[in-house]
Amino acid sequence: MQDLRSLTQSELVEALASMGEKKFRAAQIYQWLHVHMADSFDEMTNLSAVLRQKLKDQCRLITLKPVKVLTSQIDGTKKFLFELPDGNIIESVWMQYHHGNSVCISSQVGCRMGCRFCASTLDGLVRGLEPSEMLQQIYQIEKYTGQRVDSVVVMGSGEPMDNYDNFVKFVRLITDEKGHNLSGRAITVSTCGLVPQMYKLAEEGLSITLALSLHASDDETRRQLMPIANKYSLQEVLAACDNYFEKTGRRISFEYSLVHGVNDTLEGAKALAALLGKRNCHVNLIPVNPIKERDFTRGAREETIAFKNVLEKNGINATIRREMGRDIDGACGQLRRSYLQSDT
Ligand code: SAH
Repeated sequence: MQDLRSLTQSELVEALASMGEKKFRAAQIYQWLHVHMADSFDEMTNLSAVLRQKLKDQCRLITLKPVKVLTSQIDGTKKFLFELPDGNIIESVWMQYHHGNSVCISSQVGCRMGCRFCASTLDGLVRGLEPSEMLQQIYQIEKYTGQRVDSVVVMGSGEPMDNYDNFVKFVRLITDEKGHNLSGRAITVSTCGLVPQMYKLAEEGLSITLALSLHASDDETRRQLMPIANKYSLQEVLAACDNYFEKTGRRISFEYSLVHGVNDTLEGAKALAALLGKRNCHVNLIPVNPIKERDFTRGAREETIAFKNVLEKNGINATIRREMGRDIDGACGQLRRSYLQSDT
């Protein structure tokens, strides 16, 4: 059975034609799915009861169920745990900034990239999310909060470039003028650096921002933190970033999680500035979120600031990521983990 919310408008026209339905019905249904964010066929009140029944019998309408919502008392950030139709659990985060509301979504259930400090990867990959399941995280949060999402970061659990086709389709759907009509410029996708997919993404004609999880300025340190660095060298990953910038004109964002005693020395900061050189880019420093399964820690706040100052002195744009929702759970993927563990 076809998952209607994962179909483009032309695919939806085809699907309905094969059920003997006219084109304008597809336009109506598409609007229900992506503008009104319908959770059931019964909400589609301009369709006949007969057609609604036919849709129920022959198609799938994927909706996510919020099973837990935690609200930060500090900054109003909300963390959502959603149940997928097959019972899997994922997490998403809603953050309010002065420039607007941002949502961080997951792209997979679990992850197989194995980054040493990340909670999402501890139990490996379960499966990639469907386009509808990525969209639903945003739609459900808009419905829950009653507010429009202004920007989306694909930085939750999973590696989006390891679920490439579904991720690209998600972007095409959410940016469709006839659908939810979010600007491509309001979307950032983060990757640990799957080089072939980064080249492919540059050719898709999307105007999204690419963020690369760099986390080290030399291959040896990067390999200690990220298994993917055994496959692609820094030189190869940076060449893929440069290509993305050349093809799309979008400035690359580099994420650098500071792990105390591993990659956070001031010499490391100088080496990072030298590595990035004259690139038109931005560095996002993330003091590592300790997870209980690993013994990584973060340095003192002053050390993080000193690291940032070295970058800036060397002409590299850098910010320290503001920690949102500190009181409602630690690192990425930890909320889902603690929920699953408390269940068993
Ligand atoms: N798979 C994508 C998205 C991952 S999450 C990627 O690797 O980029 C977004 C960012 O958070 C990545 O840079 C990731 O390395 C980082 N991250 C994950 N766990 C973290 C932790 N415990 N502390 C700090 N940063 C973390």
